[in-house]
Amino acid sequence: MKTIAETGIDDLSQMNFDVSEEQRLILEEVDRACRELRPFEDEAYLASRFNQHLVPIFKKAKLLGLPISRLYGEGQGADILTYALALERIGREGTGVRTFLSGHVSLGQLTVQKWGSEEQKERYLPPATRGEKVMCFGLTEPTAGSDPSSLRTSFEDRGTHYLLNGSKAWISNGSIADSAVIFAYPKGKREGMCAFIAEKGFEGYTSQQQKHKLGMPTSDTGSIFLDNCKIPRENLLGPVGKGLGVAYSGLMSGRLSVAGGCLGVIEDCIEESVSYAKQRVQHGKLIGKHQLVQRHIGIMSTNLDAAKNLVYKAALLKQKSDEQPANLDLREVADVAIAKAKYFASNASFDAADRAVQIFGSSGYSFETRAPRHLVDTRVCRIYEGTDEIMVQKIAVSLLGTDFEAYK
Ligand SMILES: Cc1cc2nc3c(=O)[nH]c(=O)nc-3n(C[C@H](O)[C@H](O)[C@H](O)COP(=O)(O)OP(=O)(O)OC[C@H]3O[C@@H](n4cnc5c(N)ncnc54)[C@H](O)[C@@H]3O)c2cc1C
Repeated sequence: MKTIAETGIDDLSQMNFDVSEEQRLILEEVDRACRELRPFEDEAYLASRFNQHLVPIFKKAKLLGLPISRLYGEGQGADILTYALALERIGREGTGVRTFLSGHVSLGQLTVQKWGSEEQKERYLPPATRGEKVMCFGLTEPTAGSDPSSLRTSFEDRGTHYLLNGSKAWISNGSIADSAVIFAYPKGKREGMCAFIAEKGFEGYTSQQQKHKLGMPTSDTGSIFLDNCKIPRENLLGPVGKGLGVAYSGLMSGRLSVAGGCLGVIEDCIEESVSYAKQRVQHGKLIGKHQLVQRHIGIMSTNLDAAKNLVYKAALLKQKSDEQPANLDLREVADVAIAKAKYFASNASFDAADRAVQIFGSSGYSFETRAPRHLVDTRVCRIYEGTDEIMVQKIAVSLLGTDFEAYK
């Protein structure tokens, strides 16, 4: 693998994480929307249901197409770092809230923006950025998770349309989405995967909500069933046979969004812990004065800083890579940087949530406080969009070389 300098980026010291005036204004709006959302999210969380206020509030703040070009509806054309900073703020409100945006924007809209024809972008992006339609990304299947090359969903080319058969499982926004980016192999083949845009209204398309999840009760997760689903010819997404590339590019955006959201989780855990440690008295003093409690806070804060550096660096590399799509070395550097950011930030957020629960003691065992929500919600960040194991193997192979790939 080439070094960062060899890929056309002069030096890491050139990376500037300063927030510009334009970014500051966007982030102020994100903060305002998050404050408005919180009481509704609290209510929805305890009632274990999707927060119906999320889309209207985020629509008002123009967050539903933040990194999408201004050419499409309410797209705001924000750069990748600004989008990551917004997701960081949104992550404080909970992984369920952030997961909605990961599915709708990072995996759904950004994939259509990158691979779609002009006609597809004009058809799908404006209603999505305006919050009139919800998007999702259907790669995982009951028997294909870490290994997307083992998908069973198939398509047949029927001239005017494609006929898809199969099912998708564990899809964020899966049962509420109006359209889905779907991946399938030609019938009877194990190569030549294609990507399609399917709509809820298409014949043979049904969906169902996944119940009894460990966490994220306000995030919709669903299955999608394709039973002789007729997809119009013009809904093929990207070149024929390049579906795996479409999927991996979507996953790069998705992983970065997970990592960004995890920063917010750690921040909320720290804020809650510091506040509680300054109120709760045991053994005649505030628990914040007990050194073992201080240790938890010190570790959370250190991990937050480390995670921020990884996430912001990955965001800037992704931005550069998006600007130079022909530079495959740069793409690989960005891919590995994103893997590091996701792996570290998701583990650090789970660790922070666990420490926050510990500081709250028995109060931290009630979902009426925020720490245990983060604990169960952020756990999925170590699983979806590439598990911990897949991330560290990707990182290791970038050093060892492709001869050492753990899987093909
Ligand atoms: C709440 C939620 C939301 C999700 N949202 C989406 C979505 O929007 N779209 C979508 O397409 N998918 C989504 N997923 C699916 C998610 O991306 C997959 O669950 C994930 O990729 C892991 O796949 P799997 O669950 O099949 O686990 P498996 O791939 O079966 O893995 C099981 C275990 O084996 C390990 N393992 C597998 N292969 C290897 C290997 N080669 N080397 C070492 N260890 C290995 C894994 O790391 C893991 O620990 C979501 C999942 C959840 C839980």
